[in-house]
Amino acid sequence: MDLSYWVMAILVGTHKKFHEHDSGTDHPERPERLEAVLEGVDLSGVGEAVIHFEPTPAKMEDLYRVHDKNYIDALRRFCLMGGGRLDPDTSVSVASWDAAILAAGAGLDAIRRLGDNEADSAFLAVRPPGHHAVIDRAMGFCLINNVAVAAASLASQGERVLIFDYDAHHGNGTQDIFYSSKDVMYASVHQYPLYPGSGRASEVGVGEGLGTTINIPVPEGTTGATYFGAIEQILMPAIEKFSPTWVVASSGFDSHIGDPLCDLGLTSSDFGSLITWLFSLVPGGRRLAFLEGGYDLDALRLSTAETIAAMGGETLHLERASEGGALVGVLNAIREQRARSLEL
Ligand SMILES: [Zn+2]
Repeated sequence: MDLSYWVMAILVGTHKKFHEHDSGTDHPERPERLEAVLEGVDLSGVGEAVIHFEPTPAKMEDLYRVHDKNYIDALRRFCLMGGGRLDPDTSVSVASWDAAILAAGAGLDAIRRLGDNEADSAFLAVRPPGHHAVIDRAMGFCLINNVAVAAASLASQGERVLIFDYDAHHGNGTQDIFYSSKDVMYASVHQYPLYPGSGRASEVGVGEGLGTTINIPVPEGTTGATYFGAIEQILMPAIEKFSPTWVVASSGFDSHIGDPLCDLGLTSSDFGSLITWLFSLVPGGRRLAFLEGGYDLDALRLSTAETIAAMGGETLHLERASEGGALVGVLNAIREQRARSLEL
């Protein structure tokens, strides 16, 4: 056996039922996104290291760790009775329930498989996405908070989980679910102002969770240089103190420069570098990445390819790393605002 490939093996979890979740006519969160992502997996050049698996549905008790039981029961009934509109941006069909519980189950299956030493890391190519789903409500294309279900399961087993969310939108649902948790750190870099409006630097957590929420709100046009500045100056000192035993990426590719809904400046190369950094924080077998947003099919294809390549220890250089616009002033302001909020 080629030991190098065994060490960096990558689980890729996806399911044909994810294509059946119908979000409505001309909706940007469409099944073709997943096809682009899976083409990206093929383009990664590390196909020999990829182990595909089909997830099983999450159990209700796994969902109730992060969502209100009444909400989950109502969501199930609403989907199975034919579906419709849940909020101005979020519609569901009959098939959406199965897709949602499979998307939430994908992370749990990956955790079990990584525990059995099947691979070094896992990428969950799921839809619907999850990071806007709050405790008792669907929101922003999201039904069940997939990342939160996985992180809460790990925390219940005594793990300390770092969630890094580099989707262009703030993951308000994930933040809310873990806002007072000392065992789950939520760190997000996101365009601001932008939907859903949360994610100011002054949002730092409460009670036992004070300090375990880190928000880096950045203006449109922000490039990878600023992301890595934020990692060095703001994230790393907090992460070193937190000392995670697992890392989970909310991997939204709508921060790519080509995305039609957002205005950030990352390239596919930057996503490879971000996942390489994140996954270096913990040993192999303790690393998950979930697909969140991303609405340009080419950007999804290239960004997934670089992400999977990076998970296999390779770099493709399909695009140049983004440069310029290093926002020293912005980072200083964020750091000061965060420090003031932690002292209050
Ligand atoms: Zn997004």
